[in-house]
Amino acid sequence: MPHFGFKCTECFKNHKADPQTLRCGTCSGTLSVKYANSKKQVNRQVGDGMLDMPIPLCSLSEYLSLGEGNTPVVFMPNISTMLETEIYAKLEFMNPTGSFKDRGTAMMISALKSKGVSEIVEDSSGNAGASVSAYATRAGIKAHIFAPLSAPQTKLNQIKIYGSILHEVDGSRDETTQAAEEFVENKSIVYASHNLSPFFIEGTKTFGYEIFNDFDREIPENIVVPVGNGSLYLGIWKALEELKEKRLIKTLPKLHCIQAENVNPIASNKTLSKSEIKSTVAGGIAVGSPPRKSEVQSVLRQSKGFANSVKEASIVEWQIKLAKHEGLFCEPTSAAAFAGLENLINAKEINKNERVLIPITGSGLKDIFPE
Ligand SMILES: [Zn+2]
Repeated sequence: MPHFGFKCTECFKNHKADPQTLRCGTCSGTLSVKYANSKKQVNRQVGDGMLDMPIPLCSLSEYLSLGEGNTPVVFMPNISTMLETEIYAKLEFMNPTGSFKDRGTAMMISALKSKGVSEIVEDSSGNAGASVSAYATRAGIKAHIFAPLSAPQTKLNQIKIYGSILHEVDGSRDETTQAAEEFVENKSIVYASHNLSPFFIEGTKTFGYEIFNDFDREIPENIVVPVGNGSLYLGIWKALEELKEKRLIKTLPKLHCIQAENVNPIASNKTLSKSEIKSTVAGGIAVGSPPRKSEVQSVLRQSKGFANSVKEASIVEWQIKLAKHEGLFCEPTSAAAFAGLENLINAKEINKNERVLIPITGSGLKDIFPE
């Protein structure tokens, strides 16, 4: 018996952990990893080797790394003065392929490789596709990456350079997922969806463990996260809960969720019809029907965080502001978090005497150049 299994997030039924299983066989709910209280538990040391983090692999030697994680945290003096709040950024674009996705991909590809999988399908708005392409190459796995034709050319080129087969879809982000699912069914290839894989979230957990170390155990009171599918958001929360269980932290920060006003199924708490989904410069969070929506909403309630939608103009404004005032060129998806932060401060949903941490999920060099 391995030391971990899957648990359905809807009907709570337990399932055998398998990287090819993406949904509950009983109710089609999304799955998450559950660890048994076992002596066989495998841990990775994270946060400068200070912390043991449980991982869903049978041996540490199965973990495939390209050097992801341990990204720097920087204080943002000028933006802090502007918003009269102490603001920090964690530079996730310093991961091997330029986005936070590498944390999740490393774990997901390790699990697939450990089961001898040799060919996979993935769909992405760009960053996850590039990440899966790189890690799959390293693992000797052939990857088919589906991405919208409208994704930035730099991201599409990056997917191709690692050697994966790029399938460009003339449609929305959600139509790209549909095209990938059809391909999986027709060709009987393993679907390595980073949105559904429970292993992916086990990888993004490292962000939560690292900030415990980055802030010398005093994690900021607020973490503001741009949310599309919510894999980073949910990974941070899972890590914080594990740290609390180990009695390393007493209180959990508020986890705020930022979406673009043009695609905001979580912030609006609505099921968006095709005509309600508009285009957004924040391609990384342009997800009309996130499969883990109810999980994100549950964390919002538990952490007492707020969901906020931001206007297109404010996303571009903040992308330029961050570059001009902090020397930080981030992708629009990350800039959206700052636009949301400004809204939350103005609405007094974040107190000015509390600290704020924002992940800079991806580099501006990968995305649309501001005018
Ligand atoms: Zn279920």
